[in-house]
Amino acid sequence: MTTASPALDELAATLDADDPLAPVRERFLLPEGLVYLDGNSLGPLPAAVPPVLADVVHQQWGTDLIRSWNDHAWWQAPLRVGDAIGRLIGAGPGQTVAGDSTSVQLFTALSAATGLRPGRSLLVTDPGHFPTDRYLADSVARLHGLRVRHVTPGNLERFLADEGDDVAVVSYSPVDYRTGELHDMESLTRATHRAGALVLWDLCHAAGALPLHLDGLGVDFAVGCGYKFLSGGPGAPAFLYAARRHLGAWQTPLSGWTGHADPFGLPQDYTPAPGVAQARIGTPPILSLLALEAALSVFDGIDMAQVRAKSLSLTGFFLRCAEDMLTQLGFEPVTPADPARRASQVALRHPHAYGLIQSLADQGVVADMRAPDLLRFGVNALYTSHQDILTAAVRLRQTAATGAYDPSPAGAGTVT
Ligand SMILES: *Cc1c(COP(=O)(O)O)cnc(C)c1O
Repeated sequence: MTTASPALDELAATLDADDPLAPVRERFLLPEGLVYLDGNSLGPLPAAVPPVLADVVHQQWGTDLIRSWNDHAWWQAPLRVGDAIGRLIGAGPGQTVAGDSTSVQLFTALSAATGLRPGRSLLVTDPGHFPTDRYLADSVARLHGLRVRHVTPGNLERFLADEGDDVAVVSYSPVDYRTGELHDMESLTRATHRAGALVLWDLCHAAGALPLHLDGLGVDFAVGCGYKFLSGGPGAPAFLYAARRHLGAWQTPLSGWTGHADPFGLPQDYTPAPGVAQARIGTPPILSLLALEAALSVFDGIDMAQVRAKSLSLTGFFLRCAEDMLTQLGFEPVTPADPARRASQVALRHPHAYGLIQSLADQGVVADMRAPDLLRFGVNALYTSHQDILTAAVRLRQTAATGAYDPSPAGAGTVT
């Protein structure tokens, strides 16, 4: 492969040679030769997953059948996997449960949080929040007779100074899923608490990508998905965190039988299980939960501070490559250059984003786009190399410079 710059070649080689996480790439079954920069949409397959799933299917389901609920501790899986995720997000045991989708967990967390702030009528969310987060805020507001206010994280303090007394919940993500901008969880959590409101963080683009300190920051609620940086597989169960101090008073909105204090006593009326188990709803998706549990073993022995350092090195290198060979072709980096404000992806604006991303995929570089004009490159410190970044940048430059792509491709798939 030819590149524009021997200096960038050399820099990539040096950074990769000095990378203490380089051997961790072997924990993933990545297709040979593929540059995969879409792990922020669907994490790749961890090598630990197929043998576990084969055992779960053939032995646990196929042979041991119904006994597996006890003998293989299927029943405890939502709380056990929740605690394993808790270790990655700074949550002590007994506060995190895995199951359902992020959307359902958002509904549970938003409803429970608003219930803990009776008499306050506002639910604050980010106008740039992921669509499902905004839609669920609207649903919960409608059901609970609240009003939604759209306030950007940058304007939160000012807004709370005026209307903070009436705010029940602030529902934010630390990461802008389009630009990759990282917001300051600590100051936003503190500002929310000063107003007497509760904070709900959506960690979809943060869990597994950054060190997180939910207990340390005094966060009230959090949710996140299992299939992005946690690499739990397509449609992997999501998670919900509820701080221990709320577990006595909170009420979850969906009173399912598996969240009952005595699920097998089959009592007439609902009595919530103590602790975070109240957020269990129905029978858990065991195959998916156990795949997620196996996937989480990629983090064994990994220090999240090291993950963060390498992630910043990768995104910083990408921005350097963009500066050197892409900006003159009309690409505009929209990800903050300041490392403190950068999560684990780089986004470039270009009017032909979709055609360029499709052409890159045909050349073995998988990233994605977000309408209308953002090319999005997710990096995961556990398997992405600086050489991967350089390959992506060089192929993108060649593609744009030679015009070897369809600027407005037809026949787009449903999923972008
Ligand atoms: C990926 C993502 C979701 C996904 O929600 P699902 O219910 O799992 O489909 C929700 N919120 C944010 C912020 C996301 O990034």
